[in-house]
Amino acid sequence: MMMLTGKVALVTGAGAGIGRAIAESYAREGARLVISDVNAALGAETVATIEALGGQAVFVKADVAEAAGHVALVAAAHQHFGALHIACNNAGIAGGGRALTETTDEDWGRVIAVNLTGVFLGMRAQIPAIAAAGGGAIVNIASVLGSVAIPNSAPYVASKHGCVGLTRAAALEAAGQKVRVNAVGPGFIATPMAAKLDQASIDAIAAKHALGRWGTAQEIAEVALWLASDKASFVTGAYYTADGGYSAQ
Ligand code: NAP
Repeated sequence: MMMLTGKVALVTGAGAGIGRAIAESYAREGARLVISDVNAALGAETVATIEALGGQAVFVKADVAEAAGHVALVAAAHQHFGALHIACNNAGIAGGGRALTETTDEDWGRVIAVNLTGVFLGMRAQIPAIAAAGGGAIVNIASVLGSVAIPNSAPYVASKHGCVGLTRAAALEAAGQKVRVNAVGPGFIATPMAAKLDQASIDAIAAKHALGRWGTAQEIAEVALWLASDKASFVTGAYYTADGGYSAQ
């Protein structure tokens, strides 16, 4: 028996990296997918991969920082598949990597708009739809930087701490509607987001994880799959790090 048979799921930022791995994992476990990203070409690649697996997926281009995009994603789930049971708010950006005192209004605003406001706008549209389907699950992709900080990433760290708090607040409000809401805190994961680093930085970051390496997108997808499934039926308001021991030290 597959874990998500009969379920309809949407995943934001599903054109690349962690979001793509999550979407493919959901599809492999029987879910029908609404794939979303700002990058239509990458989103189409994810749809093609899912179809090659024998799954069903539609792509909807949407910027998670805009409320209308989330309304369109929920509408697409209803239009194509008749319901929405699972939403994974994954899309996120790293920001400029500057000291707090050098951070521009624009960088602060954009990181907060995508990583934090985007999750709020998503859940505001998703919770009533999932409740109307009889219940389900929301999985927000935060970061290990939702519980600890690094220098030169203040907007990102603040946005991910905010995402964890938002997850807990939503979980309390949505529990009565049978909507579970949880967050995942990945350590550093080898995806396009991290591809701009030089080798010395890649090695230094690996050494900060107790397991001595970067994680893979699939390792995060496994957690996001479990949280979305009925196997996690008593789990809500939780923040699960999957960080190779980064935050255990
Ligand atoms: P990624 O490789 O950059 O992929 C993210 C995807 O989201 C890209 O296709 C990107 O398109 C898209 N996107 C960017 N802004 C968007 C927006 N406003 N609306 C919709 N889609 C948007 O990122 P990732 O590494 O897989 O990260 C996914 C999530 O995991 C993020 O929330 C990130 O903060 C979190 N995370 C990542 C790591 C890590 O080490 N990689 C660690 C902890 C947490 P473009 O490429 O065209 O911008």
